[in-house]
Amino acid sequence: MAINGSPVAGAGSGRSSQPAHGEKKSHITEMPITWGNWYQHIDWLSVFFIIIIPLMGFVAAYFCPLQCATAIFAVIYYFNTALGITAGYHRLWAHSSYKASTPLKIYLAAVGVGAIQGSIRWWSRGHRAHHRYTDTEKDPYSVRKGLLYAHIGWMVMKQNPKSIGRADITDLNEDPIVVWQHQHYIKAVLFMGLVFPTLVCGFGWGDWAGGFIYAGILRATFVQQATFCVNSLAHWLGDQPFDDRHSPRDHIATALVTMGEGYHNFHHEFPSDYRNAIEWWQYDPTKWAIWTWKQVGLAYSLKKFKQNEIEKGRVQQQQKKLDVKRSRLDWGTPISQLPVMAWNDFKTESAKADGRALVVVAGVVHDVAEFVEEHPGGKALISSAIGKDATAIFNGGVYQHSNAAHNLLTTMRVGVIYGGGEVEIWKRAQSEKTDGGFMQASKSQTILRAEQQVTNMSPRSSAPMA
Ligand SMILES: [Zn+2]
Ligand SMILES: [Zn+2]
Repeated sequence: MAINGSPVAGAGSGRSSQPAHGEKKSHITEMPITWGNWYQHIDWLSVFFIIIIPLMGFVAAYFCPLQCATAIFAVIYYFNTALGITAGYHRLWAHSSYKASTPLKIYLAAVGVGAIQGSIRWWSRGHRAHHRYTDTEKDPYSVRKGLLYAHIGWMVMKQNPKSIGRADITDLNEDPIVVWQHQHYIKAVLFMGLVFPTLVCGFGWGDWAGGFIYAGILRATFVQQATFCVNSLAHWLGDQPFDDRHSPRDHIATALVTMGEGYHNFHHEFPSDYRNAIEWWQYDPTKWAIWTWKQVGLAYSLKKFKQNEIEKGRVQQQQKKLDVKRSRLDWGTPISQLPVMAWNDFKTESAKADGRALVVVAGVVHDVAEFVEEHPGGKALISSAIGKDATAIFNGGVYQHSNAAHNLLTTMRVGVIYGGGEVEIWKRAQSEKTDGGFMQASKSQTILRAEQQVTNMSPRSSAPMA
């Protein structure tokens, strides 16, 4: 997480072009990786701070026993610095999902920098581009380039600053705390990331080395890896209850790792909502912290999307999934596409010895030839209806057919009777201004509700048949 890659270089000139490469000279990322230039593609400063130092921390930990007090402090400091990222960098500065008083801002900027993930300004700028250009070439950590790339590769490999999407950060440039932290980034990150935890453990209980290794390096490593999971795991694992056009997903596992940032499908859909989890039972300690700060007067103007809008998104996504399922089923030829038959032609056709086995129900002609043998009510009954208008006998005259029977009948449609004389239900629907059993979904597709098939003459208000 850093400027041009490095988590510690997150200060200075922002994402402007690298001065080492002249304006005219093409950027290293524009050249293919070869055995001769691969090391130029690597952002070594990033590698040092997110890979080499953590590895050194693990090696050093082998030689330095972990003291109980240091372990407790490391965990407490872990949660504070993680909150600095989730409640501070992310929800306060990148998304302005609430407003914070100056003391709270100073606290969040201080513990946030201790997470060693760049300055607020750099972090938020990249994150705004990520939201604006999710999954595209302009997304700085697009999961489309691979899970490992979204997790860490985007920092390990040099990125072309020109390829990252634009994001407006004028509000951040006007925030004195953000500006100060950006200008003094190196001092701030070294102090809050490593010196401060060392001092606490050293002066507190004499564990200088443990403070540096456990509460400093390894604690920061875990916060880094947890945050990186929002860019990788949260775009790869879980459900998409609000929108499936892009990669963000909701999953409890990601939420547990990331202080509640795992409800990422919701978050990308409603980014300025101070919550990531909208249900009370979902794990979102960042939301609980912001809410608590509000109760004690440290935070205010917490933004929430209207529940009506959230539910609309959820219903639309459910409908979309349902539509996909529905489109895979045979609902019969739409009435409007069926050929029109004169009543006499229908009679003649069904009377032919080698003709089709045609039955009219509610003005629609059905060919039941292949179904005669399978008819649950027996061959005789269905055969007796061939060449006749069976509307009444199908709808209770002989037997009140089930919803499934009406559905099956739609797949046997072959025509409609000319004149509409038999199609009383359509006329009635028109006069009553109801949808007559159809809800127009698109030009060619209709939504057919249970018991609303045109062949079904049972009263609309009736309870489901046993
Ligand atoms: Zn995301
Ligand atoms: Zn976000």
